[in-house]
Amino acid sequence: MFDDLNDLYQQVILDHSRSPRNFRVLEGASHVARGANPLCGDQVTVYARIQDDVIQDISFQGSGCAISKASASLLTDSVKGHSKAEVEVLFHRMHDLITTGRSADGQLGKLAAFAGVHKFPSRVKCAILPWHAVLAALRGQAEPVSTE
Ligand code: ZN
Repeated sequence: MFDDLNDLYQQVILDHSRSPRNFRVLEGASHVARGANPLCGDQVTVYARIQDDVIQDISFQGSGCAISKASASLLTDSVKGHSKAEVEVLFHRMHDLITTGRSADGQLGKLAAFAGVHKFPSRVKCAILPWHAVLAALRGQAEPVSTE
């Protein structure tokens, strides 16, 4: 059972790293932020178009390992149509999931694929990087974020 679950999670991550969703520069973005994970060499730029406090569209660009790319892809897929406040809540849930493997309410859908990352400490920052970048974008932070 657990092996099957892990395989399913791996498939989700592989699928999103091989064909990342929303992987483009967003024309007319109102919010942009850059992030880097020097430990692995991951770079990500998150673009968002926010209107009436709701994310109308979101995309990313960058280069990095499979985990960082899959994380950015699933993130952009998950937060579209959500408010800034909802993304802040989701950030904390994902932070818990990625660092401990536990989620408070089990309502993370495909994002639960990152539940196994905490077993690989060197990958934790790869998975969390896009979440730091999206938070910086929503907060209008001009300085690039670093996981270091
Ligand atoms: Zn990485």
